[in-house]
Amino acid sequence: MKRTIYQAMPSLWIQNARVIDPAAKRDALGDLFVTDGKLVPSLSAAAKKRAKKIDATGLVACPGLVDIHVHFREPGQTHKETIGTGSRAAAAGGFTTVVCMPNTAPVADNAGTIQFIKDAVRRDAVIKVLPTGCITVGMKGQTLAPIGSLQRMGVVAITDDGECVQSNVLMRRACEYAKMFDLPIMDHCQDASLTQGAVMNEGKMSTRLGLRGWPHTAEDIIVARNVILSEYTGAHIHLQHISSRYSVGIIRRAKERGVKVSAEATPHHIALTDESLATYDTNFKMNPPLRTEEDRRELIAGLRDGTLDCISTDHAPHTDYEKDKEFDYAPNGILGMETSLPVTLEILVRQNKFKLPFVLDLMTRRPANLMRLPAGTLAEGAAADLCLFSEHEQWLYDAKTGFSKSSNSPWSGQTLTGRVKTTIVDGRIVYDGRKIL
Ligand SMILES: [Zn+2]
Repeated sequence: MKRTIYQAMPSLWIQNARVIDPAAKRDALGDLFVTDGKLVPSLSAAAKKRAKKIDATGLVACPGLVDIHVHFREPGQTHKETIGTGSRAAAAGGFTTVVCMPNTAPVADNAGTIQFIKDAVRRDAVIKVLPTGCITVGMKGQTLAPIGSLQRMGVVAITDDGECVQSNVLMRRACEYAKMFDLPIMDHCQDASLTQGAVMNEGKMSTRLGLRGWPHTAEDIIVARNVILSEYTGAHIHLQHISSRYSVGIIRRAKERGVKVSAEATPHHIALTDESLATYDTNFKMNPPLRTEEDRRELIAGLRDGTLDCISTDHAPHTDYEKDKEFDYAPNGILGMETSLPVTLEILVRQNKFKLPFVLDLMTRRPANLMRLPAGTLAEGAAADLCLFSEHEQWLYDAKTGFSKSSNSPWSGQTLTGRVKTTIVDGRIVYDGRKIL
């Protein structure tokens, strides 16, 4: 007979860290204490003796990273990723909470599929993985999904990510329902009529490479539409993976008027441009596409002035045999979990002189607040979800030996600076810098 032996989780004493808690404007050397999975201000002398000690000298300790845009491919596409492998890649990247997109097979447009995802999370995930539900049935953009029952199943938002609701009247109804059920709508902003057959940004590079272009106007038109519908209905619309400098301007002006829109940028859109496509490497193919240097600079400006609210990876695993095709036929998307922190530190902190606490805010408290998740804080009594990382350690990233089931990363084989050393979820160490525990 199998017997379960209940053993109290040891208290943790994290020593000598640079503790950064953006929510509390805390940035100071100090210790953190954890008991029963929660952060506590200190431990008794006796508890300190028994506690597991983690020497964090030289490391930053911050809230576990939060990513509100990932694709873990389960159910239905588990050859690319599973909730188990995706969550391991997330833990290795310092993430403790992620929100997964509903474009699985079948799509998550009904209570049964959400239950399946929740069961897989309970069984296989090493971090907190939260589901979203579809806006429309089958993500076909024709009739609304049962938003009320999705909400009762615990989805944190609704989205047709990967597709964009083209019908304005349907999007208006979705806004009204989302507001009634108090759910954010996340939208992948793309006017499909302007992007038929498009595989990269429309511009000088697409002409040079002879590839069909995706003009930024296809994003801008839907961003403007969503601003108008958000203002009209009062619904919160979160604009996913913004890539166009014009869209940043539209969002900036909307926010000045107090419109309830929010927006995200990905590490790849702030780090790379369409110049990277010169060799037709499909690990630089994603949707929306990499754009120009002017766009990249404006995304960074938008993060700096608060027009863009957070960093999300759009972690999108595909197998080698799917990606290893002619550029036109390869699927869109790249991995993001294990490279998000070092790439974001490189672009925002080292190259653009953002303050480290501000950047961590973009990766913890702000995305958590947008989706109203109890995460992204080191407040007393909060779940002990933590990321310990070295800001300056250099390491060779090899996507093949990473934790994701797929290896489609443009950063594979590169030396990155900034390395996650420990990830803790509810007071339990799930990643120790080498392996998942
Ligand atoms: Zn998308």
